[in-house]
Amino acid sequence: MNAPIYLDHNATTPVAEPVVAAMSRALAECYGNPSSPYRQGQEAAARLSAARESVARLIGASNGRLVFTGCATEANNLALLGVAAAAPADKRHLVVSAVEHPAVMEPARHLEAQGWKLSVVPVDATGRVSVDDVMAAVRPDTALVSIMLANNEVGTLQPVAEIAGRLAGTPTLLHTDAAQAVGKVPVDVEALGVDLLTLAGHKFQASKGIGALYVHPGTPIRRILFGAGHEYGLRPGTENVPAIVGLGAAAELAAERLAGGVGALQARRDRLYEHLHQAIPRLTLNGHETYRLPNTLNVSFPSVEGRALLKAVEREVAASVGSACHADQATPSGVLGAMGLSTERALGAVRLSVGWETPMDEIDNAAVALIGAWQRLTA
Ligand code: PLP
Repeated sequence: MNAPIYLDHNATTPVAEPVVAAMSRALAECYGNPSSPYRQGQEAAARLSAARESVARLIGASNGRLVFTGCATEANNLALLGVAAAAPADKRHLVVSAVEHPAVMEPARHLEAQGWKLSVVPVDATGRVSVDDVMAAVRPDTALVSIMLANNEVGTLQPVAEIAGRLAGTPTLLHTDAAQAVGKVPVDVEALGVDLLTLAGHKFQASKGIGALYVHPGTPIRRILFGAGHEYGLRPGTENVPAIVGLGAAAELAAERLAGGVGALQARRDRLYEHLHQAIPRLTLNGHETYRLPNTLNVSFPSVEGRALLKAVEREVAASVGSACHADQATPSGVLGAMGLSTERALGAVRLSVGWETPMDEIDNAAVALIGAWQRLTA
């Protein structure tokens, strides 16, 4: 039996073929410890350094440090807790948006439990923060603002560059969780003007188990794990050479694709939307119509729950709902709740996220399956 059509690229992506090849070579040929002075070690160090350059090029990090971590969650923890560890005693206030991933929200809540003050900036009905609201939350004691670049559920892009412009010249640092953005839209740390940026390998066709935190030169940050001096003293532990080499290959591939624009991704997403919208006129789009990831389509189906719909098509389509299921009770997702969606609309939401390589006939077939299931469930 064929696997269901994969429309969940915001959850994770298939590892690209050149990435598999690069990782296999690194696994087979490159067992040295990059910290060792002899040939095997230096060979590993050279591959590490080449991969670091590829990833830095993808995000325009011509200077600054790219710290490899085990995942985006770890990079976000390093950003928030590492900045907190370096912050002076009179700067213990943090600003985040209401739609951050738990990988930002939970370290923020942890700091709050330690006595930090936390401001959570609301979003509008499209999932966007207003720059003025963010700036209104910033105070003289604000050490860090952390606003994601792209939302994982609805794909809404945040005005991070504008926030950076308004914070420029102040001592408040700016972090962005770009785990969903990198590889799907052009991301340039200099143009964004951020001090810290998180990325995740498995969201753009590298393997799981590798992420990175970009740190702008001079950013006050301390390590949160203690050990040897790897990764500029910010992340101890022998580097995961094969995964990092794979991340470098994925970065090269992403840069190549993005150089041709995001039209290929957007065409797939929009074709899917057109099919669904034609057949189901009361379908509603969640997220911003324009400021949105080109691969992400979050829609609410009328008169059904998203999870019932996905259950009905489980053999044909793999996607996610915008709700978490607790003890058989569906509760609307925090993101859709923060956007002010009604419970019915939030429970009807389905997140469909396409990839660069999703075949067009799979888009068409997935739409047929979803429309058929919706018709059966609402008949
Ligand atoms: N940040 C965002 C926006 C995400 O979407 C995710 C994963 O879904 C993460 C962070 C965490 O990534 P990981 O599970 O790879 O640590």
